[in-house]
Amino acid sequence: MASSPQRPHAVIIPYPAQGHITPMLHLAKLLHLHGFFITYVNSIYNHQRLLRSRPSSQFLHPLHDFRFEAIPDGLPPSDDTDITQDIPELCLSTRDNCGPPLMDLVMKLNDSDGVPPVTCIIADVFMSFTLKVGEKLGIPVLLFVTMSACGFMAYLHFFELIQRGYTPLKDESYLSNGYLETSIGWIPGMKDMRLKDFPSFIRTTNRDDIMLNFDGGEAQNAYKAWGVIINTYYELEKDVIDAMKLMFPHLYTIGPLFSFASQIDDEKMKSIGSNLWKEDTTCIDWLDKQKVGSVVYVNFGSITVMTKEQLGEFAWGLANSKHPFLWVIRPDLVAGEKAMLPEGFIEETKGRGVMASWCPQEQVLSHPSLGVFLTHSGWNSTLESICNGVPMICWPFFAEQPTNCRYVCREWGVGMEIDGNVRRDEVEELVREMMEGEKGKEMRLKVKEWKEKSEDAVKYGGSSYESINKLVNDLMIN
Ligand code: UDP
Repeated sequence: MASSPQRPHAVIIPYPAQGHITPMLHLAKLLHLHGFFITYVNSIYNHQRLLRSRPSSQFLHPLHDFRFEAIPDGLPPSDDTDITQDIPELCLSTRDNCGPPLMDLVMKLNDSDGVPPVTCIIADVFMSFTLKVGEKLGIPVLLFVTMSACGFMAYLHFFELIQRGYTPLKDESYLSNGYLETSIGWIPGMKDMRLKDFPSFIRTTNRDDIMLNFDGGEAQNAYKAWGVIINTYYELEKDVIDAMKLMFPHLYTIGPLFSFASQIDDEKMKSIGSNLWKEDTTCIDWLDKQKVGSVVYVNFGSITVMTKEQLGEFAWGLANSKHPFLWVIRPDLVAGEKAMLPEGFIEETKGRGVMASWCPQEQVLSHPSLGVFLTHSGWNSTLESICNGVPMICWPFFAEQPTNCRYVCREWGVGMEIDGNVRRDEVEELVREMMEGEKGKEMRLKVKEWKEKSEDAVKYGGSSYESINKLVNDLMIN
């Protein structure tokens, strides 16, 4: 489509981490399909990683009306050019440094020939500094929530948890003395929440804790945005979304975005990818050779780190379960050292275990040979698993992952939780229960129901389909 001054132009800016870049790219593609001119803004660090991980991709040759730009994240240059950046540092740095370069970029775009003026900024909810940029330039800003509605609702109440004295904890002993079992009944749309189900950042004894304050503050800033978009679907989180609708007049629940994006058949758009690590696709050939529903898929996402002892417990749990498995081990999965498998593990699991350093996860989870997903309960992974009908074993690591885990295990009935202090016999037992037991059978049936509901949500007339149309219309007329 030729550009015209009337064409809506969205500047899309994700928080610079994998679980944020991917869903926002899906949203960008969808808006492009609806006629928007798109400028997608990465951090320079991630832009360079994307170029390296997809050397032959369209990413190098963006379309005229779907452009990539990059701004500095404000962190000092690093020798490590391919690792997950320190999250608290990145939060503070983006908040304090990204405003001016974004402002310059939007002004530059507004002065460029052949580029329609920017009509809206869609920023990650953890990039709320964009609200000031929008305000100065007179452009509406919408915040995009890449997490679950339940996770977001929990962050929205961080400051109230502080006011009511639930956090910070009095001392370290409160992490293990049963205090985290305290039940909280006053969060709108959420029942029987325990403190341990809240995002991990409340587990601090420090009132000045960076993440407690940053995430609590960013969530509050959402009230100042023109609208809030969430990558979830109504049927899955009905009670929380109904409560949230009373808090945000322009709320759009438009997930699962990867389902919409997978319907786009334009080859050029399909080739624009978002993986920061180079994908190993040989695992798909291996999956092709496995029996339907037989494989345990293990992947802890882009940020989780563990100790080498925990890696060893997972390894022997998987080995002892005797089930085939695909295990994705990022090079930086073990904190402070190179991830190494325990001695004897490779020989023990020969012929039924495959390892990769990064995989095309959406493709893996839709593979018929998958039986269960052992996950860290990141929201994208959780949603991808549910919408592909794969039950989960959850080992939440941080942020709102405990909230997702709670909903997966208690509300949606599609998963079982491993204790944070992972032990090999528990891994073995849960894998066996999921693959061979009654609970596994029940969860497989239940997750199929949620999968079907997600398919209905993205169909013509479905809840997310309608919500996207409303978002597009609202942005066109605003
Ligand atoms: N992912 C992937 N390949 C991998 C691991 C992860 O493509 O080997 C993708 C996954 O599909 C998801 C995202 O990376 O879209 C991870 O996001 P999530 O919210 O699950 O976890 P995070 O990485 O933010 O902790």
